[in-house]
Amino acid sequence: TMVYLDGAFVPKSEAVVSVFDHGFLYGDGIFEGIRCYGGNVFCLHEHIVRLYESAKSILLDMPLSMEEMGHAVLETLRVNQMSDAYIRLIVSRGVGNLGLDPRSCLKSTVIIITEQLSLFPAEFYEQGLAIVTVPTRRNIPDALNPKIKSLNYLNNILVKMEAARAGVQEALMLNQDGYVCEGSGDNIFLVKNGKIITPPTYLGALEGITRNIVIELCEEMGIPCEEKPFTRHDVYVADEVFLTGTAAEMIPVIDCDGRVIGTGQPGEMTRRLTEAFRGITHRRGTKVPELYIE
Ligand code: PLP
Repeated sequence: TMVYLDGAFVPKSEAVVSVFDHGFLYGDGIFEGIRCYGGNVFCLHEHIVRLYESAKSILLDMPLSMEEMGHAVLETLRVNQMSDAYIRLIVSRGVGNLGLDPRSCLKSTVIIITEQLSLFPAEFYEQGLAIVTVPTRRNIPDALNPKIKSLNYLNNILVKMEAARAGVQEALMLNQDGYVCEGSGDNIFLVKNGKIITPPTYLGALEGITRNIVIELCEEMGIPCEEKPFTRHDVYVADEVFLTGTAAEMIPVIDCDGRVIGTGQPGEMTRRLTEAFRGITHRRGTKVPELYIE
């Protein structure tokens, strides 16, 4: 496969950036994870908008317009003739001097990688995941805002490592007050007495695009859905729990901190919403041009 690197397509082995790139030196940059289903890029516009909002917030100059960036994504898929892929779009501050000041970085680096990816092994989508809560807290909104999809993912990485050490696939981050925020790379939803609940993003969560789609689906399907703060306890006593994300898609959770959730099986509401979600992934897309493969 070929990687888009600053306007050129280069083989994977030659897709390298400088050790003086501030993305490498300081995690100074932003990214998006996007998905292509059956030759349609799902929610491309929403991902591009979020990328440019992240850029604006960290004062990062974008070398391409939003439209050009969207085209670059489609073009990368076309060049690789990929109809089903996970797309990683990265914009870093670029090459500069050692030293934090980004004014020495004259041009941002743009990278687009298209890969095959499944975040969790297939059996977990059928059986559901066990998760834990971990000591690492979500960073607070007045520090590096969790709504910025920045290249500083160390908190999330620690969470993933803490999950692995507990022998599970994923973990939940709480904020300083003990409210549940999200997983290491996915948003959380509870089902309780026929209602859907997800934490408000101001508690410390990325405004997930999959999350927004699920909220919309609830509206369309007449399922009550609320954004409301909740604690670990509420997770333990929920009827159903599921996680959402571009990489994770929708995945049921059947155990949290050793507490069996509901019946210990993926629930009916989760199943209905997952089915609806799968239905729209192929419809809500921007078509990749000149795709000759199935
Ligand atoms: N939360 C975090 C921290 C993430 O990195 C992601 C990944 O994109 C998500 C949630 C899910 O967001 P989305 O549905 O937009 O992929």
